[in-house]
Amino acid sequence: MLVSAKEMLNKARDGKYAVGQFNINNLEWTKAILLTAEECKSPVILGVSEGAGKYMCGYSTIVGMVKGMIENLHITVPVALHLDHGTFEGAKACINAGFSSIMFDGSHYPIEENIAKTTALVNTCDILGISLEAEVGSIGGEEDGVVGMGECADPKECKMVADLGVTMLAAGIGNIHGKYPANWPGLSFDTLAAIKAEVGDMPLVLHGGTGIPDDMIKKAISLGVAKINVNTECQLVFQEATRKYIEEGKDLQGKGFDPRKLLAPGTEAIKAKVKEKMELFGSVGKA
Ligand SMILES: [Zn+2]
Repeated sequence: MLVSAKEMLNKARDGKYAVGQFNINNLEWTKAILLTAEECKSPVILGVSEGAGKYMCGYSTIVGMVKGMIENLHITVPVALHLDHGTFEGAKACINAGFSSIMFDGSHYPIEENIAKTTALVNTCDILGISLEAEVGSIGGEEDGVVGMGECADPKECKMVADLGVTMLAAGIGNIHGKYPANWPGLSFDTLAAIKAEVGDMPLVLHGGTGIPDDMIKKAISLGVAKINVNTECQLVFQEATRKYIEEGKDLQGKGFDPRKLLAPGTEAIKAKVKEKMELFGSVGKA
């Protein structure tokens, strides 16, 4: 069953661990993440960007696929299906299609407009029991063609948005999407602590989990981060394993051309990466 992310994140915050959001791109991705969550007895959040939503034919297709997999694979752990960095229109479309969790990213609007649009979604999500993530302060790197600079959010603005009644809050603390540059100065824990002091119990979300050193991840969790987004890292291990299969000529041997064989090493690589992250985040056995 699809569930809102609210309960799993409140439990994570109280238990000082984090739930991973793993973005999906197709059937193999979704299957790998769900099977690993079940094996690890971990709650899980499946992230879908608007670009990935279009790629997978639309939000209804995704809802159908995920619900079907939960049933057919006998998944018993809590699963949230979450729109990642949604526009206002995208958020409404996902609510209508049956997503159980939504991120509205109004961080590129002036704070007043971010607040107005977030407020409009708070009421709808409340009524439907859908969890809602808001963002303050843009998160650097590239996300569906939008490039930010990795700024730190204003803690006062974080409080204004948290007080609207959202479920969780993403705030820039020097984190960026995609691969981190060699000269990256690291996460700003002073900013994280200042945000936490303002927003109190609100579970915080760390975007751009790929390439943040493990000790920084653990420190961020100890300071109130309850959800960590992982996307690029799964893409990289999938690519690496698929490249190896082809470079070793395995696609040319026997029925190695069969897509179910061709995509298997990449799928297994995603499983291993997701398991590694769940262990790091501390969510294993928490479902
Ligand atoms: Zn993000």
